[in-house]
This record gives sequence, structure tokens and C-alpha cells, in this order.
Amino acid sequence: ETASRTNFIREVIDADLESGKYDGRVQTRFPPEPNGYLHIGHAKSICLNFGIARDYEGRCNMRFDDTNPLTEEVEYVDSIQADVRWLGFDWSERHFASDYFDQLFEYAVQLIKKGKAYVDDLSAEEIREHRGTLTEPGTNSPYRDRTIEENLDLFMRMKNGEFEDGSRVLRAKIDMSHPNIVMRDPTLYRIRKAPHHRTGDKWVIYPMYDFTHCISDSIEKVTHSLCTLEFKNNRELYDWVLDTLEVYHPQQIEFARLNLSYTVLSKRRLIQLVREGYVDGWDDPRMPTMVGLRRRGIPAAAIRDFCERIGVAKADNLVDIALLEHCVREELNRTAPRIMGVLNPIKATIENYPEDQVEWFEMPYFPDEPEKGTRQVPFSRTLYLERDDFREEAPRKFFRLAPGREVRLRYAYYVTCTDVIKDAEGNVTELILRYDPETKGGWSKDGRKVKGTLHWVSANHALECETRLYDRLFTVENPMDKQHGDFKNTINEDSLEMVTSYVEPSLKDAEPGLQVQFERLGYFCVDTRDSKPGQPVFNRTVTLRDSWAR
Ligand code: ATP
Ligand code: MG
Ligand code: MG
Repeated sequence: ETASRTNFIREVIDADLESGKYDGRVQTRFPPEPNGYLHIGHAKSICLNFGIARDYEGRCNMRFDDTNPLTEEVEYVDSIQADVRWLGFDWSERHFASDYFDQLFEYAVQLIKKGKAYVDDLSAEEIREHRGTLTEPGTNSPYRDRTIEENLDLFMRMKNGEFEDGSRVLRAKIDMSHPNIVMRDPTLYRIRKAPHHRTGDKWVIYPMYDFTHCISDSIEKVTHSLCTLEFKNNRELYDWVLDTLEVYHPQQIEFARLNLSYTVLSKRRLIQLVREGYVDGWDDPRMPTMVGLRRRGIPAAAIRDFCERIGVAKADNLVDIALLEHCVREELNRTAPRIMGVLNPIKATIENYPEDQVEWFEMPYFPDEPEKGTRQVPFSRTLYLERDDFREEAPRKFFRLAPGREVRLRYAYYVTCTDVIKDAEGNVTELILRYDPETKGGWSKDGRKVKGTLHWVSANHALECETRLYDRLFTVENPMDKQHGDFKNTINEDSLEMVTSYVEPSLKDAEPGLQVQFERLGYFCVDTRDSKPGQPVFNRTVTLRDSWAR
């Protein structure tokens, strides 16, 4: 695998190591909120955080940011862990922000005692109205000057469940005319009488992200807290909380989130695709979720390679999905055995081949590396060829099959098309071929050359397999572009084509998850959900055509 490239974050870490800032330690964390399935954007953050820990011989924790009991579920915790491991990483320690609820509460009490936090009775709506705008300062809440004693009393009673949801919050007391709106007395705690997936009904008040995240980082002694650009303005609050509490202080660094063309990467929008039935679940192979990518047959190594190549930038941009596909092809070219399968069959009968004869040809799984193994493939008088490989009226440079032209059937024989059979509408329904018995193995002693080599399967031996041909889920580069209105207006109606393919019988007992190249057609994997013993279902991962411009 490629060595990690340097980037501006690694430069900061190098400088900190040089100056001895964190005693030579490097510690990061990956902090998902367990409110959905991870997508390839998260993979960027995973590769960055775990990759840094690996390369600097540091540590990286898994931390579930589970402060919103309404949206979080154990199902998501499990899938996130499985996805991180599948990507090839493991955490030093696993934590839940909810494990820190007692400590967070104590820190909130400390802020009140320092005169730096107060209980506010304004409604959420009123708080918004008091906040001001980018050009207008905010206004103080009438509750801002409560005494420390009154604030302590009210906060305890919030904790004890005496007040209704939304009736009171705890706010930091900073500055309502601060130029950074995040700093205008942000909410630290809210009342939410809902059971939590880990703490049950112990708590009816829950800490907000901005309060929780920095303290969790501090408790764990994270050195570099990497987050996406939308948290840039929150860094000032991150620093304020830790400085005010006078506790250990990690460095927050922001990087650009991954945006990928022809895709949306946001749990909120991906949930809509699932709930509204545009796709068949989170693991639909068209989804950019990790479970979807995996089921599509995209190898973890290709995702790591992709994340390495896109690097880490300080400004948002849109990455071409062709780069991901390129990484997938490079990986599968190395690892996927070649087999023969026909997606759109046309029957072909070799009129001079003995009726009941079957020959078995030994074929290498990797033509350039035959030592990696072979299998036997049957050949007989009746074959299926790829319909696109035949043209009745063929231009001179069409090096496949046409009336009177000779081609090679891969590893088998040279054949010539001598006739075609048509139905009443004039559609070609069958090809009549003649073979040259002197060309066994697919070459000729007399040295005559043929330009085209076609894949084929023996009709009587082939396995009939449900096969899904996937295309991009959206028709435009940036579905989120306002000019399209709702992003769902840009969904590709033809992103899934179901066909019956005919594949060589060696695949009968292929394990779910197996990845193969259908020669000349693309990379396919055996679907992990719908395949049955003896009856594989195939998902097309990518075609062979690479549109990545280097
Ligand atoms: P979404 O907007 O899809 O819901 P999120 O940021 O709310 O994503 P979290 O579970 O909070 O999801 O994210 C965990 C980590 O992954 C965070 O550090 C977040 O910054 C990072 N992350 C999420 N999306 C991306 C992305 N597209 N590119 C890079 N990092 C991302
Ligand atoms: Mg989030
Ligand atoms: Mg989000």
C-alpha cells in the first residue's frame, strides 16, 4: 500500500512533536454520532484519524457522541464498529460520551460557580430572537443575571426532573454581542425526558455537542482533535470551555469534508432515500454507505487508497467519483479471479461440432499468473455469446463476430459465422458457426491471426444467475446544487438494471462476497444478502472502462 502523504495536519503534528507540546504523544479519536450508518465521507475521517495514530505510533479512540437520546440506537453503534473494523482499523479504547455524563454535570456546576453559566427560562424561539445576526449584536436574556445560588438551585431541579422539556436551559455566560455568533451565550444543557440507549432514564437533562465534545477530548487526553470545516466557528467555544475550566486542552484542527460527485453524503439525506423507498435499504449497493459499498463489492483497500489519494484540504471541494472507481479497478485487477459470464446472450450453434461432445478446458484464474490456480470450463456445440459481440452489418474495424468473419473463442477454438437465424420480425435469434478443430486452445499452427477474442459459455452447462447492473444513483455531478431544487429531483431512474446472466458452472458454489471479473465486462461480486447455496446472485461493482483522467 502507498505510504501516507504528508498534509497540513501532519505538519502541525510534526511541529508539536518537535516543540514537545504534548510530551511527544499523538492521540486522535473518531467521534461518530450513532444516529445512522457510516458513509464514505466518514471513511475519510476514519483513515485520517486512525492513519495518523498508526503512523505516529500514537493512539486513536473510538468515541460515540451519544448526547441526543431521540436519534441514537444500538443498531447504529454495532454497524459503526463493524464498518471501522472492516476498513482495517481498530481503536485503542472505546468510549461513549454518555459515560462522561456525571463528569460533564460536575463541570457544568463548576461553570455556574465561576459565574460563567446561568439557567435561562426563555423558549428556544425567544433565544433565537435574542441571538442577533452577523451584523446585529444579540440582546441579553432577562434571566442572565441570576445569582450563582439561584442558578445552582435551578440546575439541580432541572436535573431532578422538576421542569418540562424546553422550559429551561443552561447557557454559558460569554457575550451577547460577540462577533462570533457561536459565542453568544451558547446552550450547554437542555431538558429532554427521553430514555437514553445506554443510561436509560437516569438523566432528563442532556449536554449539548459543543460542551460535550471538548470535555470528552480533554478527559481522554486527545492531542489533536480533527473535525470538519463546519466546526471552525465552534473552535472558539471549544477553547473557551476548556480554558474557563482550566483543564487539559487538545488542539482542534478543521479539514474539508469529502464531497463526492453524483452522490450525497449526509446521513439526513441518505435516511430520506431509505425511508422514501428510492433504494432498498441502507445496504443497497447504490448507497455511499459503508454497508452499501461493501455489498457492491468495493474492497476496503480501495477505499483506503482513495482516501490517501484525495488527501486532506483546508477548503471544500467536489471529488470526482471516477477516482473512487479507478481505485476499485486497480485493486480488483490485482485480486479478482477472471471467469466467463454472458450478460446479454445470443445462442450460437457450431454446426460441425459433434452433437454429444463436451470438452473441458483448463483456464487460469489470472491469465498473467497461471500459478495462482485454474479451473475446468466445459465447451459444447451450443454456446451463449454476448449479443453485442455480433453485428450483421459490421464496419471493417469491428473485430468481433459478423457473417463470414473468424474470431477466437477464449481458450477454445477459432470459429467463423456462416449463417444467422431470424424470427418473424427479422431479429437475429441464433448464430450458426463452424469451428476449426486444428485451433484447439485458441491458436493456430498455420500462424493465421484473428483479431477478436470473445468470451462464451456452454449453454447446457451455464448457471443462470440473477445479476444487477448498477449505475450512479444521481444524474448530475452535484445533486445538492440549488438549481436542481430538491436533490431527489436528480435521482437516476435507471440506476439499477436487472438481467439474467449465464456464467460458467465453476461459480455454482461461490461464497457470498466473492469478487470476480467477468472477462471483458466488469467486476462483479456474489451478493451477500440474496444469494442461496448453489444459486449465486451477482452485483456489478464497476465496469472495466476507466474514465479517470490522470
Ligand atoms: P452527516 O452530516 O453525514 O450526518 P456528521 O458529521 O453529522 O455526518 P458524525 O457521526 O458526527 O456525522 O461524524 C463523525 C465524524 O466523521 C466527524 O468527525 C465528522 O466530521 C466526520 N465526517 C462526517 N462526514 C464527513 C465527510 N463527508 N467528510 C469527512 N469527514 C466527515
Ligand atoms: Mg454530527
Ligand atoms: Mg450532520
